[in-house]
Amino acid sequence: MMSPGTYLQLRRTAAGLSVLATASALVELPAALRRATSREINRIAEHLHAAEADHAPLTLPQTRLLSGVIALQPHIYWSLLTTQAAGYTSLLHICTGCGCTDTMACADPEDFGSCAWSQNQPDLCTRCEAEQLDALLASVAARAPAPHFILQGQF
Ligand SMILES: [Zn+2]
Ligand SMILES: [Zn+2]
Repeated sequence: MMSPGTYLQLRRTAAGLSVLATASALVELPAALRRATSREINRIAEHLHAAEADHAPLTLPQTRLLSGVIALQPHIYWSLLTTQAAGYTSLLHICTGCGCTDTMACADPEDFGSCAWSQNQPDLCTRCEAEQLDALLASVAARAPAPHFILQGQF
């Protein structure tokens, strides 16, 4: 079962933000009452690190604030926290590659519509599956020896 911290980490990574960048964006939200010092931003970053490592969970208000910076679903995080605390296994369907769900699918960068569940790997969405395949093909291409083509009829 996916841990609540892993869910946070996947959503942050999918947003392309570092923990520090996330903390900096948090204090720029309209809800921030004043400019934060760099020490305060570092403290928030440490808190986010601890939450991602499942050492110190975020509160629901903190999770709601965070959802203003990265695309995450506070009720999904909360559900993972409570099922884990109760010792149950969550039945939520969450992509293990990016943390997307049925109600928060990945937007396709080329606008072919949103992602779906992979036919081959039920815990992956089609976008993550495509990325895995791209990475695999790239690693195969990198390992393949350079081709030595002799063009017929030219020599
Ligand atoms: Zn995914
Ligand atoms: Zn997806």
